[in-house]
Formats: sequence, structure tokens, C-alpha cells
Amino acid sequence: MKTIVPKHIKNFLPYLSSRKIGLSGKIFLNANESPYYKIFTQTYHTLNRYPEFQDSKLLQKYSKYSRVSEEQILITRGSDEAIDLLIRTFCNSRKDLVMYFPPTYDMYKICAQILNVKTIRIPSIKNFQLNLTEIFKNLQSVKLIYICNPNNPTGTLINSLDLIYILKNISIFCLVVIDEAYIEFSIENSSVKLLSKYSNLVILRTLSKAFGLAGIRCGFILSSVNVIKFLKKVLAPYPIPSPVSSIAKIALKKENYKKIQKNILKILKNRDFLVSKILKLSFIQKIYHSQTNFVLIKFTESQKVFKYLLENGIVVRDQSHKNFLNNCLRISIGTFEECSELITILYKMLKME
Ligand SMILES: *Cc1c(COP(=O)(O)O)cnc(C)c1O
Repeated sequence: MKTIVPKHIKNFLPYLSSRKIGLSGKIFLNANESPYYKIFTQTYHTLNRYPEFQDSKLLQKYSKYSRVSEEQILITRGSDEAIDLLIRTFCNSRKDLVMYFPPTYDMYKICAQILNVKTIRIPSIKNFQLNLTEIFKNLQSVKLIYICNPNNPTGTLINSLDLIYILKNISIFCLVVIDEAYIEFSIENSSVKLLSKYSNLVILRTLSKAFGLAGIRCGFILSSVNVIKFLKKVLAPYPIPSPVSSIAKIALKKENYKKIQKNILKILKNRDFLVSKILKLSFIQKIYHSQTNFVLIKFTESQKVFKYLLENGIVVRDQSHKNFLNNCLRISIGTFEECSELITILYKMLKME
């Protein structure tokens, strides 16, 4: 088999989720999922038929929720598919480049590598902000730039003036993709309002995080009518299973969306509670300010903490191998009880030091 696999597939490092690694535990604070769930039930009558290419009622509902017109929305299998679809649609593998800003979400680079498209990385500067000077010096042949806002795994918001500066000064032949997977935790900072002004702006959304629906794999691309038109040419003919659209529509109903908003507030409260309780622990060097449902924490020895938490049934995400994130762990915010247990275990560890 080895001989028939192309070199660019043989040589790259695949995405490693904790699920894939197979870590076991009882409290999962590793994948930024919502700890709150609601069982949305629905009976299906028409599973013998293929679904609509794009469920028109779901488009209507997401349009109302996002205040973006239906022609400017594309439903995808999670935003991970959106990241891949954009590169497949717009990049020529011999010519075009994908730009990204580490430390950030790994899938921008991984999708480009799988599609044999070259990438250019511009490391972020102080406070995990964008290095505008370097960005503009290196735009030659760049077709897509991926900005994660708020950023995963740092939890940081990108300065809105920097985003506007980029959109104002970049060629309209370069797409600026803002990944808003966590924007519901800081919704006033969404770039949706800029869509009417910049036809090369693309916004990625998902139901996987704040909506508590990681299991259904449903995401949305918001952009100009033209960008959506080309993406539609490349997207599979029946991409979204009907049970998925059904559940997504129920989640976007007013009464359910209200519950989701309450859960968002609960998560933010849990986050602030957790941070206030562990801020002063001697083996914590820094807790980065977060605008999301996770916190990035720098420890004196992160491997020891990671192992100790795992032994106590708590799975978090190790980020210490990444640039600038030496000794850092990323911890998703769970329920109040889960946060309390995490606090107890960290204090227990302190006593053993
Ligand atoms: C979780 C995450 C995604 C993937 O979301 P899905 O919709 O579940 O595919 C995309 N971008 C970022 C930054 C994420 O953290």
C-alpha cells in the first residue's frame, strides 16, 4: 500500500483528538463541547428519500438567527467540512497558498496538507494578536487566510480594528475566513456585520460548541452570494442527513434557543468561578484571559498536572507541544459540579507537592 500513497499523504501528521488517542476518564474537558445537553426527539417519515441539497427551512431559521440572508448561507457537515471545502473550491494546489496564524486550530494546516496546497504560517505576536506587518509582507499567492476568532486554543479575541484593517487593505481575490466556532460566548464581537461591506469575507459557524450539538455535525458558511455559489458547485449533492437538519431546526426554535442562551451564561459563570478559585495556586503560572468556553493555563510542569488529572478521571487537552504554549493545558468548561471536582483535585495535588 505504501507505494500507492502519494508523498503528501504519507508524510503529514494527522489531527489527534483525545477520542482517537483513546484516553479514558469520567469528566471530559478536552474537546470544548458543551456539558449541557437536551434530547431533541423527532420522528422521521421520509428517510427513503434523499434530503434536500440545502434544507430550506433550516436556511430560513439560521438566516433569522444570524441576520444574514439565506442566499449567503451554506449548511455543511460541521465547520471542519467548511475549512476543507473552501480550500478545495478556491485553491490550485500548484499555485495558491493558505495562510494561518499559530498557535491556532490545527485543521487549517491539516486540510491544506491533505489537499497538497502549500501553507504559510505567520506566528502571532504579543497577547496572541495578528502580526499585520508580516501578514502584508507575505501575501504573494495567498488565496485563503484563516483567522480563528475567538482563537482556539488561546481563548483570545482578535482586535476588531486589525480585522477591519486586513479586509480594507487586502486584495478582493484573497478570501478572509473568520472561524467563529466560539462566537456565541462573545456574540457582540461577531464579524457578521462586515459581510455587507466585504465580498471576500467568509464566516464559519457551528452548532458543535455553544449549541451543545457536536454529535450532529452541523455547521454554516456565511459569505457573499458569489462565494456561496462556487462552494455549492463543489459540495456533495446530498450533504446533510435529514435527521441532522431536523434536529438543527428544533434547536433553533425560539424556546430552545432561549435555553441555549441560558446554558451559555451558565458556562461563562462556571468559567469565572473556576478561574477565581485556581488563580493563586502556586503551580499555575498564568491563566490566559478567555472569551470562550475553555481556558488556556500555563503550569510550572504541565505534564505532571496532565497525568495527575487523568489518573483522577479528568481528561484535558495538552497544548504544550505548540509554539509559545510550552507547559500549557487547555481545559474546557464543564458543569458547576465538574468545575468543582477539578478544583478539588488541583488542591489535592497542591498538598502533595
Ligand atoms: C471545534 C472547532 C471547529 C470544528 O467544529 P465542527 O463544526 O464540529 O466541525 C472548527 N473550528 C474551531 C476553531 C474549533 O474549535
